[in-house]
Amino acid sequence: MNNISDISLKGKKVLIRVDFNVPLDKHFNITDDSRIQAALPTIKKVISDGGKAIIMSHLGRPKNGFEEKFSLKHTLKHLSNLLEIEVGFSLDCIGKKTLKDISKMENGDVLVLENLRFYSQEKTGDNDFAKQLSKLGDVYVNDAFGTAHRAHASTSTIANYFPKNKYFGLLLNNEINNLETALKNPQRPFTAIIGGAKITGKIDVITSLYDKVDNLIIGGGMAYTFAKAMGGCIGDSLVENDKVALAKSLITQAKAKGVQLLLPSDSINANEFNNNAIIQHSEITNIPDGFMGLDIGNDSITRFSKVILDSKTIIWNGPMGVFEMDNFLNGTKKIGDAICKATKNGAFSLVGGGDSVAAVKQFGFTEKVSYISTGGGAMLEYLEGKKLPGVIAIQD
Ligand code: AMP
Repeated sequence: MNNISDISLKGKKVLIRVDFNVPLDKHFNITDDSRIQAALPTIKKVISDGGKAIIMSHLGRPKNGFEEKFSLKHTLKHLSNLLEIEVGFSLDCIGKKTLKDISKMENGDVLVLENLRFYSQEKTGDNDFAKQLSKLGDVYVNDAFGTAHRAHASTSTIANYFPKNKYFGLLLNNEINNLETALKNPQRPFTAIIGGAKITGKIDVITSLYDKVDNLIIGGGMAYTFAKAMGGCIGDSLVENDKVALAKSLITQAKAKGVQLLLPSDSINANEFNNNAIIQHSEITNIPDGFMGLDIGNDSITRFSKVILDSKTIIWNGPMGVFEMDNFLNGTKKIGDAICKATKNGAFSLVGGGDSVAAVKQFGFTEKVSYISTGGGAMLEYLEGKKLPGVIAIQD
């Protein structure tokens, strides 16, 4: 891989695509800076080499042009503090004004450009927009794993304009290496834990993981569609009726592929989607009418934990229950606990997906798993075996 760690960036204008799509509160304070932290090694490498770091990113989902709440200027103060230098800002991301801002940069300076998605051409991968972006730098670096599965102007098209000067940033390189550790010759047993709200969006990853893993654990809202597929009564639990047949076929496919599919056996149920609801416990296939399953129960936790503790490679994407509410976080926390213990005993564990990463942080597991991916969708697509446009674009 053409990695920036292999070259000197001295005197170069280095155009870096990062993922600064951070959550902001109503006063525009950053509430979770993980994505900025993750991009620091690449930015620091440019600074210490004596290059000029020109940072481009998207933030949120602007509809049509400038929107104050999506301005990347909100990241400046924090980035300046982290880097301990004053970071500059360009009010645009292309054109004369931005070129002028760049011409004033000294070696070692950092300049953040305004949100790429204020131009609709970013998401359409527009060639002309990419060409204008390419005029800003001598070297192009992609360090945005979170958007690597998108063929956008700044993640993919732009690379055509840097045939000899396109590089993997340190974060992107690290993400790919960690995913490859899990996917190529994994230490066995290899266990994947897939949770979250729905089966939709995770079908492809489940089927492709069948060819790789020894155990597949399913939890979260999607487990109730499986419970229905087994003929169970699931009360008012989240269910995708149009996916019941698919869930049945996923159960059969697992057997045919020799994969141990572990579904929850019991469920913590509530009479309302509310932390103060009336709570009861039942088999997952025997949930009373008027109740909905919001977490896995102790029997499931024990079965899942045993398999996790025996594993040598573990991938986790998606919570086991509604962990945002105190009364339904136990399953996610206990499964996280088991993953940390397995990691301590020598297993390689990789966690990804916005909600599982949030859970890992909430429960203080950050330092106890092997790797936390910054990309949810990108991680799933990589696990599915898809080629990520942002990765292909910078490969030799
Ligand atoms: P996803 O984005 O598909 O990974 O889903 C994450 C969301 O699934 C989280 O916000 C959880 O609160 C939610 N979730 C997990 N378990 C359940 C459940 N049993 N019922 C409803 N939502 C759930």
